[in-house]
Amino acid sequence: MQTEFIKLNTGKCTACWKCIEACAKNVIGRINLPWHKHAKLINSGNCTGCQKCLKICEFGAYELIQKPN
Ligand code: SF4
Ligand code: SF4
Repeated sequence: MQTEFIKLNTGKCTACWKCIEACAKNVIGRINLPWHKHAKLINSGNCTGCQKCLKICEFGAYELIQKPN
């Protein structure tokens, strides 16, 4: 899943939830079932491309696909 600026590879996500706290735009939500946990993008249109999610994720789940102006 992706926004205009970043791509989230849920397969790399360990559900630490740091990116959710880091995103000031509430772009990131969670799937939090006992057998299935990972971050998900819920408000992709609000993403500014600030890359805070990308920088805080220790597992490389985020990738920059376009630099913001
Ligand atoms: S910071 Fe990375 S590992 Fe942690 S919830 Fe976000 S995407 Fe998943
Ligand atoms: S790039 Fe910034 S605004 Fe977009 S999801 Fe990541 S932390 Fe949120």
